[in-house]
Amino acid sequence: MVAASGGIRVLDHLPEGLLDTPATGLAALLGGPTLISLNGRRDPPLFVSVLLHGNEVSGWNGVRRLLAENIALARSLVLFIGNVDAAAAGVRTLAHQQDYNRIWRNAEGPESELAAELVARLAGQPLFASVDLHNNTGHNPHYSVVTDLSPRNLGLAYLFSDKAVYVQEPDTVLTRIFANRCPAIALEVGPVGDPRCDDRVYDYVARLLELDAIPDADLQNLQMFRSQVRVHIAPGVRFAFAGEESAPLVLTGGMEAVNFHSLPAGTVFAAAAGDPGAVLRVIDVAHQDVTRAYFKQEDGNLVLRRSVVPAMYTTDPAVIVQDCLCYFMEAMPLTP
Ligand SMILES: [Zn+2]
Repeated sequence: MVAASGGIRVLDHLPEGLLDTPATGLAALLGGPTLISLNGRRDPPLFVSVLLHGNEVSGWNGVRRLLAENIALARSLVLFIGNVDAAAAGVRTLAHQQDYNRIWRNAEGPESELAAELVARLAGQPLFASVDLHNNTGHNPHYSVVTDLSPRNLGLAYLFSDKAVYVQEPDTVLTRIFANRCPAIALEVGPVGDPRCDDRVYDYVARLLELDAIPDADLQNLQMFRSQVRVHIAPGVRFAFAGEESAPLVLTGGMEAVNFHSLPAGTVFAAAAGDPGAVLRVIDVAHQDVTRAYFKQEDGNLVLRRSVVPAMYTTDPAVIVQDCLCYFMEAMPLTP
């Protein structure tokens, strides 16, 4: 069953064989991004999105096991299966595509049409909550990402983890389209290939489907971080990690182990000669280059000028080039 290319496939049932199909086989079965509405005992439906990033398969694996084991859903479900073409290739995004989690505002090209079509199809549809499922790269705790600090959103986040990140930038992510409409979060469920990630998805979505209402977060125990800046490697700069070959920029080893831990001012972040701005680009929420506010040159090293909490620090060169090296965050006290 391969539909014509372009546009979103819209279904009110699970196609034969869908739940047995791994992420790599969805493009052949579905023919493109697909929106599936399934009736449960209660409304409004829960919206769940999977595979906006094609290689982040835990969301799909957890949801398909849940659907296989639960014939009757406690609550209606609207499932969006995103970038099936990238999933077929086992990559986050295909070379000719835009990142499916960066197209929900001010996008252009075919992906902007996809985004507009999903928004139009959901228009006027009351929703219980929205959950966008991702895997993350690097060693991170599992955590949720919120773009809005309303109590309902924090409650949705706390149901998943005691760690959450408040992100203002990029402002083109899917959760943004649910602002002022229903609680909406993205979950970073852990690294691809860890089977516990599938279980986390299963448990979280199953629990949400059963709930009458989203309970309040325990603000004493919810650790909230604010994402301040994204750290990129300047375009065209050749880089390596410590212990690999030599390069103009050699990144300190072991940094991904300190994701979500505070790094003090003075920490050596990389070895490079000259101006930090020549090899790194630190971009703040206003899209300003603030590299020199975060890094200084000291004896051939780039060291932190201030204390930061790194997140999503990755050693995967493809992710570094397509997305970024890491984020810097700060702890954000929540006042009950
Ligand atoms: Zn992702």
